[in-house]
Amino acid sequence: MNRSMTVLAAALGLVLAAGTAAVPAAAATTQGYTPSAGIAANSSEDANNKAFFEAVMKSARAKQAANPYLAAVTVTYDASSAPTFRTVISQSASIWNSSVGNVQLRSGTNADFRYYEGNDSRGSYASTDGHGRGYIFLDYAQNQQYSSVRVTAHETGHVLGLPDHYSGPCSELMSGGGPGTSCTNPYPNATERSRVNSLWQYGLANAG
Ligand SMILES: [Zn+2]
Repeated sequence: MNRSMTVLAAALGLVLAAGTAAVPAAAATTQGYTPSAGIAANSSEDANNKAFFEAVMKSARAKQAANPYLAAVTVTYDASSAPTFRTVISQSASIWNSSVGNVQLRSGTNADFRYYEGNDSRGSYASTDGHGRGYIFLDYAQNQQYSSVRVTAHETGHVLGLPDHYSGPCSELMSGGGPGTSCTNPYPNATERSRVNSLWQYGLANAG
């Protein structure tokens, strides 16, 4: 991440870092792994924040145009609060990094998003703006019932901007728990890869 991207990331952090609790702040939407998760989208997005976010995005695109070296964005994650899932988080990142070119995931400090673990009757979920920020919660029970790498890659897909599509087949990552516990495919399909590349083609994910 070069200096201008770092400045932008800091600006985005100011927009989105409202209210930190045990599981921190986040984001415009919360999406789970199964349709029964019962997690409703948080539509309380502040219009002023949205306007500011879009202004930042516009600035980012202008800088991108002026700097063709910004071919791919690196989104940094912190897995230190999900030690049980260290290996699957690493596998999930490798899967995404080999699947898409316009955005890459890297473990590190000063992270854009974090993984947490614990017990939650709603299962696993991502609370994210879809632009690389927010957090992922990994539920112990659900990760034993379903393929843990698939769950983790699915939730990471939300951070990269993909929505749920529970009615899809097992070959689709964002079908989540829809195809049942026997589905272990952790890879996004061609359509999902293309969607993420498209969302990140300006360096930062498209707003809205
Ligand atoms: Zn989901």
